[in-house]
Amino acid sequence: MKKIAVLTSGGDAPGMNAAVRAVVRKAIYEGLEVAGVFNGYQGLIEGKIELLQLGSVGDIIQRGGTMLRSARSEEFRTIEGREKAMKQLKLNGIEGLVVIGGDGSFRGALELTELGCPCVCVPATIDNDINGTQFTIGFDTALNTVIDAIDKIRDTATSHERTFIIEVMGRNAGDLALWSGLAGGAETILIPEEKYELPAIIERLKSGTGRGKRHSIIVVAEGVMSAAELAERLKVEAGIETRISVLGHIQRGGSPSARDRVIASQYGAKAVEVLKEGRGGLAIGMRNHVVVNYDLKDVFEKPNVFDVEMYKLSRELSI
Ligand code: ADP
Repeated sequence: MKKIAVLTSGGDAPGMNAAVRAVVRKAIYEGLEVAGVFNGYQGLIEGKIELLQLGSVGDIIQRGGTMLRSARSEEFRTIEGREKAMKQLKLNGIEGLVVIGGDGSFRGALELTELGCPCVCVPATIDNDINGTQFTIGFDTALNTVIDAIDKIRDTATSHERTFIIEVMGRNAGDLALWSGLAGGAETILIPEEKYELPAIIERLKSGTGRGKRHSIIVVAEGVMSAAELAERLKVEAGIETRISVLGHIQRGGSPSARDRVIASQYGAKAVEVLKEGRGGLAIGMRNHVVVNYDLKDVFEKPNVFDVEMYKLSRELSI
């Protein structure tokens, strides 16, 4: 393999830039040419492709978002769109592609691999919802953003003796809510992976008040319900007044944490290593502190592993 390309796709995540930098620098280190595709798969279809040099990725390791920009492409979901993308890859002499993104982007990469362009995927999403890897790029930064918000809200909750409901992102995954709830000392954490019973939540809040607890923090994952809905239900069913805070897109931005920069560098470099060997249809990830590559199909075919022990611990520590 002589020339590869890299793109970022789907929702942006802090650390994507660090991953792009790693791909570009490792590729050049290995003697490969490397091109950047701008605007994700849509840019690939449109031929927004530029050769990158060592300096092209200077001064980006600390920046959130993605210098290659991201996009969602409906056209790429069609076979005609993907054939246009394949044409552009051939036209530019690109023999392999690193795709940095979430599971939608991974599906696209699998399709391209099947059309003949080997793709290696680097997981980058704040949701931490990619099967087969313990950590995705961006999760740690988002987690720290959420914890910072919980700490601030706690000041008001304590001063005004209030119950706060904080809604966090995560799509259908509860990792961001669970980890931030545990680290932020939330009294109640609602995640899609575990059933919740409203009467039990009410009971918990009331027994807390009974033993003199004057404030409470509830973290709810967006995949369960909105903070507004939960607030309404607590009011209607138990007369409990709450305040809500929807953290929204602040969770997606910001300078990547040290940990995200490190794993982005490791994942990006690993992607080039395997791609250089001509291997495609693979995902990069972390298992027990080791950077691994595994079959891309496992992302879609194997069930997501949820950390039940951590959930139990969060319950035990918030009695
Ligand atoms: P993320 O990668 O963050 O999960 P999306 O789900 O929006 O984000 O996916 C990003 C892009 O990947 C989509 O806009 C689309 O172009 C492409 N994509 C998603 N699913 C498929 C699919 N099944 N086949 C081909 N391309 C897909």
